Amino acid sequence: MDSIKISDLEIFASHGVLPEENVLGQKFVITAEVMTDFSRCAKDDDITKTVNYAQICEDIEKYTKENIFKLIETLAYGIAETILKKYDVYSVKVTVKKPSAPIKFHLDTVSVTAEMKWNEAIIALGSNMGDKESYLNYAVEKIGNDECCKVMRVSSFITTEPYGDVEQDDFLNGCMKIRTLYSPNELLDMLHRIENECDRKRIVRWGPRTLDLDIIMYNDDVIDEEELTIPHIEMTKRTFVMIPLCEIAPYKRHPVSGKTMTEILDELRRV
Ligand code: ADP
Ligand code: MG
Repeated sequence: MDSIKISDLEIFASHGVLPEENVLGQKFVITAEVMTDFSRCAKDDDITKTVNYAQICEDIEKYTKENIFKLIETLAYGIAETILKKYDVYSVKVTVKKPSAPIKFHLDTVSVTAEMKWNEAIIALGSNMGDKESYLNYAVEKIGNDECCKVMRVSSFITTEPYGDVEQDDFLNGCMKIRTLYSPNELLDMLHRIENECDRKRIVRWGPRTLDLDIIMYNDDVIDEEELTIPHIEMTKRTFVMIPLCEIAPYKRHPVSGKTMTEILDELRRV
């Protein structure tokens, strides 16, 4: 992958645990490395198609001067997040040095490094109450409007028969691929908030719902917690998840079995 590195940008600012530091200020030295792709800008030799590093320097300076944090860890994270949200980059690594840190040891410098990247997640959408299509579209729009998420692909919505023993209306199902800065648990919280906005009630398991948003995959992570299982425990048994998923990510592999989504769907159809 291509990268741009800004090394040792000096900025006078006021971060620190001690009140004097917040008043007097001191020098911070910041290095930022962004991972990106030069194929488009290099081919055309066009600055509008690359990440403008002078602009990034301005953003780092603005963020560093306009905030006052106790910790340089918070500063490094904040700078990384600002760059990721604004520029078309995959990941960023930010090191903040504090050469004049007021501690009673003789040392060269103290520094912290924060690394942040866009994660890829697959989300399954389902509704079988009210205006189903509007509920699914609402979820896509809400996720897309969140500054920590980018919608990459949305499948068609398909009508499917209900799952489980409860007598209920047909479902409308779909899948979407997103990039997100949220951790899996933060993403689940966000999805639950959107479900609640659609007046989702959890009355009967597998019962009727205005909106159901499940995390199907998150990078190639495997998570087995009480509140969260990733990949989704039922995904490989559900054609209503696998059909839309195959439309948007047919060659994606399941991180545990190593099978492609198409292979999983073919096997499911044979059962
Ligand atoms: P279901 O989606 O199985 O029909 P719910 O939407 O009511 O049922 O989810 C029940 C619980 O499942 C949630 O509160 C959540 O904590 C848990 N859960 C576990 N893994 C996942 C996942 N990958 N995506 C969404 N919810 C999950
Ligand atoms: Mg759910």
